[in-house]
Amino acid sequence: MQPLLLPDPASLRAQVSAWRAEGHRVALVPTMGALHEGHVSLTRRVQGPRTKVIVSIFVNPTQFAPTEDFSKYPRTFDDDVAKLAAADVQAVYAPQVQHLYPDGFATTVTVAGPATVGLEDRFRPTHFAGVATVVCKLFTQAAPDVAIFGEKDYQQLMVIRQMARDLDLPVEVLAGATIREPDGLAMSSRNRYLSPQDRQTAAVIPQVTGDVAAAIRAGRDPIHACAGGLQRLTQAGFAVDYLEARDAATLAVPGDGATRALRLLVAARLGATRLIDNIAV
Ligand code: AMP
Repeated sequence: MQPLLLPDPASLRAQVSAWRAEGHRVALVPTMGALHEGHVSLTRRVQGPRTKVIVSIFVNPTQFAPTEDFSKYPRTFDDDVAKLAAADVQAVYAPQVQHLYPDGFATTVTVAGPATVGLEDRFRPTHFAGVATVVCKLFTQAAPDVAIFGEKDYQQLMVIRQMARDLDLPVEVLAGATIREPDGLAMSSRNRYLSPQDRQTAAVIPQVTGDVAAAIRAGRDPIHACAGGLQRLTQAGFAVDYLEARDAATLAVPGDGATRALRLLVAARLGATRLIDNIAV
């Protein structure tokens, strides 16, 4: 069925109130559009008999640095709506920039903790303030009972959980597993930027992370295992921003002899395209 199109906060709020009055649970799936099977999998995870699923589509300017791809970020709205119709999503919230950032807007949500561990934040220093601010606003506008985020953006997931906890936001934050292409590459709206040759090379990322995680599991020191992986990525043609094993709960650098669960996280560039991925160790 065709999802309802909610073009502004007023229509969103009215619809959510009506659903809640009927006893429905409301689930929000925030996205920037250019939807793929990874996004659709998140909608499936939150669907349920008494649940109404809203997918927001908003390319959030404040999470892009001036040098990044905001203006050329893929915008495929009609195709996105068709995918959401096929997935039986009940509504699409598609606000304009002025609905999130009206003239005179002057507030930023800044998260520390997992947002300041020297991974994405080291290379995109203004990114998580933009993410936290827009997600906080989407939570207040939609007032969902649950919201779901992909493990694909693992640090982002941790940042949003931290924010929701710290600000007592009355929303349950769920995590969806990373959906991958047949060759293992994590699905991403940015994969379409890759040339055919770079697209082939990109599959080296999941091979390397799989091997490094296996080596750490087998007892190899994480620093050495990551150094080996970094060398392989570089040889394959990547400019690597980081490949690190971190505490899976806090993203802190693990101490000597640490026994807590680890997460292996990577960011690497192929030409102008920056790819990120992560797996449990
Ligand atoms: P984006 O549109 O890139 O901002 O992503 C919207 C949501 O989809 C975020 O919570 C992402 O973590 C999630 N997501 C993106 N790619 C994938 C994937 N391959 N598998 C699962 N979730 C994903």
